[in-house]
Amino acid sequence: MSHPEPSTTPTDRSGWQAMADKLTFESRAYVNGDYQWAVSGETFSCTSPVDGRELTRIASCDQADADLAVTAARKAFESGVWSQVAPAKRNAVLVRFAELIEAHGDELALLETLDMGKPIAHARRVDVPATARAIRWTAEGIDKVYGELAATPHDQIGMISREPIGVVAAIVPWNFPMIMAAWKIAPALATGNSVILKPSEKSPLTAIRLAVLAKEAGIPAGVFNVLPGYGHTVGKALALHMDVDCLVFTGSTNVAKQLMIYAGQSNMKRVWLEAGGKSPNIVFADAPDLKKAAAESASAIAFNQGEVCTAGSRLLVEESIRAEFIGLIREALKTWHPGHPLDPATTCGAIVDQAQLDRIIEYIGIGQSEGATLVEGGKRVMEDTGGLFVQPTVFAGVNNRMRIASEEIFGPVLSVIGFTTAEEAINIANDSIYGLAAAVWTSNINTAYKVAKALRAGSVWINHYDGGDMTAPFGGFKQSGNGRDKSLHAFDKYTEIKSTWLMLD
Ligand code: NAD
Repeated sequence: MSHPEPSTTPTDRSGWQAMADKLTFESRAYVNGDYQWAVSGETFSCTSPVDGRELTRIASCDQADADLAVTAARKAFESGVWSQVAPAKRNAVLVRFAELIEAHGDELALLETLDMGKPIAHARRVDVPATARAIRWTAEGIDKVYGELAATPHDQIGMISREPIGVVAAIVPWNFPMIMAAWKIAPALATGNSVILKPSEKSPLTAIRLAVLAKEAGIPAGVFNVLPGYGHTVGKALALHMDVDCLVFTGSTNVAKQLMIYAGQSNMKRVWLEAGGKSPNIVFADAPDLKKAAAESASAIAFNQGEVCTAGSRLLVEESIRAEFIGLIREALKTWHPGHPLDPATTCGAIVDQAQLDRIIEYIGIGQSEGATLVEGGKRVMEDTGGLFVQPTVFAGVNNRMRIASEEIFGPVLSVIGFTTAEEAINIANDSIYGLAAAVWTSNINTAYKVAKALRAGSVWINHYDGGDMTAPFGGFKQSGNGRDKSLHAFDKYTEIKSTWLMLD
């Protein structure tokens, strides 16, 4: 791997392109402190959705690699080299890890953009800082968490403590590859576990690169491992492994359900799932600023090409302003035209791969055949670049029971649904198998609070879309998952509670 000079961040497309041309890619798994090819010698293609170019071929791990990584992780855990060091020491190492991520920010952002197509400006300004912050914030929390003493008679002491769970496997998706990984590995490592990270086969490059930064920061061999490969091979092997204690996952609801089955079929490992969404964004006629609501609603479906678990894909608009608001959304979407991902002015990049592009185009066809009205977008564009681009798309006249309103598309396709009363809006919003996020726009504090309370979702935003921080937990109700990432609540997933009872003489 060639490392770009830690100099200035490129300011235009040719600067980023020049940097991309100089990159070579680490393509191997990282096990027990070293990079190595898959035991089978198999590789798979890592192709950029930016221009269709093969970037490299990646080690395709399977059961044999999972066995090696789990053995190394278990040995490291049992040795105490990380699990038993003082939390303050783990804090210091992880803060150093965050600093190294920041120091290599340009390179990591570029890897993310080339690998999965997001605009370089977002990779650099959102993904890199959010990854570093997730690791630093979580690390800094770990030596400020205390145990409890039970209420006991005077001759007894009941101590309630948390202990690391052991070997954690983290399986993550491709839409925010580094951030989703950081939300898992930060609390898992901070609490003293050994970790095996399996990135998506669609976006393995940054995870592989992070491994050596973790080593440089001082994370001991075996404590952090990275296994690139397919879900049905190495992902399944980890999920069924008898010596993995905890499986944490972000991805689709269908795979999440399968992982629960694998846990039941194997060793009843703890399973924590962050899955899909079809989030309602409810705009009342008395929203404080309709233009702002439209701008954020456009961003809610177009940011990251709509490949966001919390995408505001169902826009519920009060009937009296529906036509006006659709006009405002269409206007706002003009700032979200697809462009070349390496151009810092681009806001909407490439779709991750051909299968995902086909899925989005198929759903646009389904919307039309279901009788919804296509009012904006709907087409693949920039095909001559060899890249995978689609216009942000808006359907009006959508019924919540249509497939475009009930199924997660995971692309920039918006369904606009009208309502007349708050009760109707709540019913439509909650009429979903998902419950990840929701938003409500109104100037009326009573409406805002009552609707927010009635919404069955893990995050609710009032008069904005997609708020949050490391300080607040993130996760879903219903089939959007269980458990929570971020905040101190995340530590619960990576620790076992122990009660130690002492009888005094
Ligand atoms: P996916 O479920 O297809 O894949 C996610 C990961 O699971 C990948 O690493 C994949 O290789 C692996 N996998 C697939 N089959 C497996 C199997 N049988 N055993 C073990 N591992 C397997 O999801 P995706 O397409 O990568 O990501 C998109 C999905 O992720 C969307 O549904 C989106 O809503 C969801 N997501 C959720 C959140 C959240 O926090 N709730 C955040 C981001 C993305």
